[in-house]
Amino acid sequence: MQFHATYDEIITGKTTDIYFQRAEEILKSEKKNPEVVVEVWAKHLPENYKWAIFTGLEEALQLLSGKNIDVWAFPEGSVFYAKEPVLTVKGKYLTFASLETSLLGYLCEASGISTKAARCKVVAKDKTILSFGARRMHPCITPIIDRYAYLGGIDGVSSTLSGEKLNIIPQGTIPHSVILILDDTKKAAIAFDRSIPKEVPRIILVDTFRDEKVEALRVAKALRGKLNAVRIDTPASRRGDLSLIAREIREELDLNNFNDVGIFASGGLDEKDIAGLNPWVNGYGIGTSLSNAPTINFSLDIVEIENKPVAKKGKTAGMKWVFGCERCGKRKIAFSKDTIQKCECGNSMAILTKKVIEKGKLAGTPETIDNIRNRVLTEVKYLNV
Ligand SMILES: [Zn+2]
Repeated sequence: MQFHATYDEIITGKTTDIYFQRAEEILKSEKKNPEVVVEVWAKHLPENYKWAIFTGLEEALQLLSGKNIDVWAFPEGSVFYAKEPVLTVKGKYLTFASLETSLLGYLCEASGISTKAARCKVVAKDKTILSFGARRMHPCITPIIDRYAYLGGIDGVSSTLSGEKLNIIPQGTIPHSVILILDDTKKAAIAFDRSIPKEVPRIILVDTFRDEKVEALRVAKALRGKLNAVRIDTPASRRGDLSLIAREIREELDLNNFNDVGIFASGGLDEKDIAGLNPWVNGYGIGTSLSNAPTINFSLDIVEIENKPVAKKGKTAGMKWVFGCERCGKRKIAFSKDTIQKCECGNSMAILTKKVIEKGKLAGTPETIDNIRNRVLTEVKYLNV
């Protein structure tokens, strides 16, 4: 039994909200099907984020291609700000009206996850972040969560299927169950080292039975020279301040000349926790806050009908173009794409939106995962959360 929508059901508009089918019925019987321009934009970003990351474009273009429409969009992986149109469609309204629900669904969830991933990465700087979110959502969307977390700049994923799809090696440690069954952290560490291929990093959980600092030292001594890191996943009821626990472990490991043993932290962490942990911690497993990242509330609004600017209350009429300054990062929204926009810094600004569908045909070739991910990492380099 499968409850999820199939790809065919999505691209034929079956996952639409019923009110778009009503719109079709009404407009067809009124013989109205004007050419419109619609813009996808977010009036506000979640939790007062200053910026967000635009992803989901490749999937959205699969949905929109083959229809007689033109589409402009930011390149996937671009930084965007509230009120900027990230994707614009021009064409006969009924050609694409019923796809609005799925189009927004693709962009809202993907961009929400990538934005959270990028925020975590900005705070963690050069420290490693792995997506541990697979278990928090329906398994059908595990590769989706991991794809958009990875595009957002995190370094790896835990799920084997996501690893295959992204062409990266999935990463993880060992579950608490092994330590419980072997009845001792040190025994489990030795067993891990005996059974698991050498190329897999030795990262051992140290929060199962005893104090984390004590266990970290026991494990470091038992796997001397081979231990890559200890992992703390301390339950909230025993935690207090996890950054203080991490600091104690770091100091104790250093005092005992285990300076090259890292600390890996997990357990309900987000970018705020990373800020406190980062001086002591070398890597993070981030689960729920990626899989359940606040969605970007994109909406799709008509801004022109038959070349005349028109919009509902609260939205500015007329097709808009977003310009950006490569030198200082400033942005400007303009109604004409042909007027040269000068930045306050003196540099000329360039249009950030690109034509991605021309009369139903995809313009250009799909970007690689690495290209999109590198765009995110480059664009967020000078941003903070
Ligand atoms: Zn500038």
